[in-house]
Amino acid sequence: MMSRLRIVECEMNAVPRHAYVHVPFCRHRCGYCDFTLVAGRDDLIDRYFTAFGRELERVERMLEVDTLYLGGGTPSHLGPTGLRRIFGILHDRLRPAADAEVTVEANPLDVTPEFVAAARDCGVTRVSLGGQSLDAATLRALDRDHSPDDVRRATARLLDAGLVVSLDLMTAAPGQSLAGVEADLAAAVGLGVQHVSVYCLTWEKGTAFESARLRGALQPAEESIERAMFETAIDRLEAAGFEHYEVSNFARAGCRCRHNEAYWDCRPWEAFGPGAARFDGRARITNHRSTTTWMTKVLAGDDFAGDVDRMTDEQAARERIVVGLRRRDGLDRAAFRAASGFDLDSLAGPAIARWGAAGLATDDGRRVRLTRAGLLVSDALWADVLR
Ligand code: SF4
Repeated sequence: MMSRLRIVECEMNAVPRHAYVHVPFCRHRCGYCDFTLVAGRDDLIDRYFTAFGRELERVERMLEVDTLYLGGGTPSHLGPTGLRRIFGILHDRLRPAADAEVTVEANPLDVTPEFVAAARDCGVTRVSLGGQSLDAATLRALDRDHSPDDVRRATARLLDAGLVVSLDLMTAAPGQSLAGVEADLAAAVGLGVQHVSVYCLTWEKGTAFESARLRGALQPAEESIERAMFETAIDRLEAAGFEHYEVSNFARAGCRCRHNEAYWDCRPWEAFGPGAARFDGRARITNHRSTTTWMTKVLAGDDFAGDVDRMTDEQAARERIVVGLRRRDGLDRAAFRAASGFDLDSLAGPAIARWGAAGLATDDGRRVRLTRAGLLVSDALWADVLR
C-alpha cells in the first residue's frame, strides 16, 4: 500500500481537471444574498474581463478540464455578447475536454434565444437556473426579479436546445407553506428538468433579510416546518425518479453535477475571479472577496489572495469525512484510507458509533452513511469530526 506521505504528494502534484470562474455581477442584490457580487455596476464589466484574463495567466500551460463551472453572481447577466467574450478569454488557458461538463448559472430573465444560442456556441452543456420557486408570491417574498412564467420559458428554451437544466428551489421562504413547497416540487418535476437543488433559506449576517428579522419585520420558519419541507422534497423528488445524491442535490440517472462531485471528492481544482477559492489538494486559497479590490490588485500585479487555508494532512482527511458524509453514497472505509492515508475509525470512530446508536448513521463495516434523520441534522454533526 502507498505510504501516507506518497499519497499526499500525489494529490499535491496532481494537475487540476476542474475549474471555477466567478462572475460577480447581478442586476440587483436579493435580500437574502451575501455572495461575493456587485449589483447594478455594469460599468465594471470591461475591467473585470481584463482582470480575469490577467488572472488566467497564472496558468502557465493550457489546462484541459473535465468540468468548468461559471458561477456568481449571475454569469448570464453578461448577456450573449459577454458570454462569448468570457469564453473567448478563458479558452486561452482552459480547454474543456471533449466530454466535459460545462455549466453556467443563469437568471431566468436572461435566458433569451440569443443567450441560449451563445451558450451552445460556447460549448455549455448544462445551465444552473436560479428559479427558486414557481409561485409568484414566494418569488416576491424572496425579492427575486423574475416571475414563474420566466422560469417556465427559460427552462423550455434550454431543454429544447438540448442543454441539461438544474433548477434551484428555495424552501422556508418568508410566508411559504408546506403546501407551497409541494406545489413547487410538482411544478419543477413537470418542467422536465434533469437536476434539482433544494436549499433552505438561511439568514445571513449583514443581509437585508437579517436586518428585517432583527426588526421583527420578517420571521424565519419554525424548525419543524423547515424539516418537514426538506423531507417533503426528498419524498417527492425520489418518487418522481430523482436520485437524492447529496444533502441538497437530486438528479435524474446520469445527471449528477460532475463539478460538485469533484469538490466532494476533494480533487484539486482551479478557480478565478473575486472570492473564488482554489484547492491544490492541501491548501485552499481564496481570492480577495471585494470585486474592486481583486481587480485593482490583479491589474497592478499585486497579491490578490485574501485568505490561505493550509491544512495539515489530518485536517484535510477530517474535511474529507464531512464532504463524504454529505453524500448519500457515504464513505467507503477502504477508499477513504486510499485517498487520505488515514484510517476512518482513528479519526471518527467514536462519533460514528454515537451517530449509529442515535439512528443518525448506518455502518455495515465497509461503508458509513448518514440516515435521513442524520442528513436532517448533518450540520450539527460536523463538530464531532472537525478539529
Ligand atoms: S441573483 Fe443570485 S447571486 Fe445575485 S443577488 Fe440574487 S441570489 Fe445573490
